[in-house]
Amino acid sequence: MPFDLAARLAERHAAHLYRQRPLLDSPQGPLVQVDGRQLLAFCSNDYLGLANHPEVIRAMQQGAEKWGVGGGASHLVIGHSTPHHELEEALADFTGRPRALLFSTGYMANLAAVTALVGQGDTVLEDRINHASLLDAGLLSGARFSRYLHNDAVSLSNRLRKAEGNTLVVTDGVFSMDGDLADLPALCAEARLKDAWVMVDDAHGFGPLGATGGGIVEHFGLGVDEVQVLVGTLGKAFGTAGAFVAGSEALIETLIQFARPYIYTTSQPPAVACATLKSLELLRSEGWRREHLNKLIARFRQGAAEIGLNLMDSPTPIQPILIGDSERALKLSALLKERGLLVGAIRPPTVPAGSARLRVTLSAAHSEAQLEHLIEALAECWPQVAGDA
Ligand code: PMP
Repeated sequence: MPFDLAARLAERHAAHLYRQRPLLDSPQGPLVQVDGRQLLAFCSNDYLGLANHPEVIRAMQQGAEKWGVGGGASHLVIGHSTPHHELEEALADFTGRPRALLFSTGYMANLAAVTALVGQGDTVLEDRINHASLLDAGLLSGARFSRYLHNDAVSLSNRLRKAEGNTLVVTDGVFSMDGDLADLPALCAEARLKDAWVMVDDAHGFGPLGATGGGIVEHFGLGVDEVQVLVGTLGKAFGTAGAFVAGSEALIETLIQFARPYIYTTSQPPAVACATLKSLELLRSEGWRREHLNKLIARFRQGAAEIGLNLMDSPTPIQPILIGDSERALKLSALLKERGLLVGAIRPPTVPAGSARLRVTLSAAHSEAQLEHLIEALAECWPQVAGDA
């Protein structure tokens, strides 16, 4: 039967892979109102607790009063306004690069950068567990597309040997479902040997990583010429929405001229840029947020190890608990929810088959007491799920 959607949906249900959208009826924060209940959430990407910051809210309100609520048109027509321009300048300064270009979403920034830089006759090499938007971008580009083993410079080197044309190496900075860091010093060294460019999507690194929140590049102290294309998203630690690509003057002008996902879309509301200017200021200046977050990360890892949970090699606020089987991951998530805690179960196809997990994310907005509550609940619930194995 054509378009047998019911059968397709039933199959997804049967495999314990059906996705539900929790209905949020409150602002982001440790305590949220979901599906009519108050829950303590450990699943937001608001790593620094800025999404609901009074000064950021005020900046958005004032921005809306001054600039209205709609972008109005694409950047190239009449949608590029002063707040967008000021934010681009501030992001260039933050990343230490000549220019930055603003996008409405990270998904589009990634599609734009890859497809504008490589095409037929070129090569794009990606970490096999890169974010979906990067993998989609590689496929869409029309370049020869190959995935190297996760974080493996030798596997990258083997592929670089066979590369043709302009070659772009693409990696997440912090892997979004595992929380580990790209081995950028090694990957960049391989790329340099072959005159390949490196593109890093540091959606989860900007804010939590680096002395001033400058992300993985700051964390490893890499030079501007080692990562030619640097992407950040604004909907995570920045607490707002949108994304940016930072790099050379020529890179940014190339994107403006050739990147279809940049050219053919409406600019983000200028008030969002006003809010992001404020959150960038807080992200850079309030180092205590990173310090508190790092303390929470260390305490969670210690507590989880004592319970015998299977953690991944992550120094970041993304702290997945590896379960394996999707049904058991769902069960652990449901048991925690019964105790008033919200932690999402991540299942295939978002993660490889057999590697379902609970993706715990920590935020500077969490208190130590709230984290202890999570650890205690995990200590109670885990044996019930572990016993099912
Ligand atoms: N890159 C990574 C690594 C991400 O995790 C995400 C969002 N989950 C994106 C890009 C897409 O960003 P946005 O949500 O702004 O589209």
